Amino acid sequence: MFSKSKVECEKIEAICTKCKKGVYRQTGNVDKEANPIVFEHKCSECKAIADFSMVYPVLKYRDKKFMLADSVRFLSSSPKPDV
Ligand SMILES: [Zn+2]
Repeated sequence: MFSKSKVECEKIEAICTKCKKGVYRQTGNVDKEANPIVFEHKCSECKAIADFSMVYPVLKYRDKKFMLADSVRFLSSSPKPDV
């Protein structure tokens, strides 16, 4: 069972430091050996590469940060076949 309720939260985008226009999106490449874990991102405009320990955009609610569930699927140890 799930219950749904609407909450106010902030969306945190990582702005590209090179072109200052694009936002970073994860490429799917993850360095799981790194500590903290490293997610590779690419700028949506100039395609610059940057590494972050979280996947952006991140949602912030009550001082806690939330990563999108889609981002986390890359973390499973063995890829599961699409059904
Ligand atoms: Zn850029």
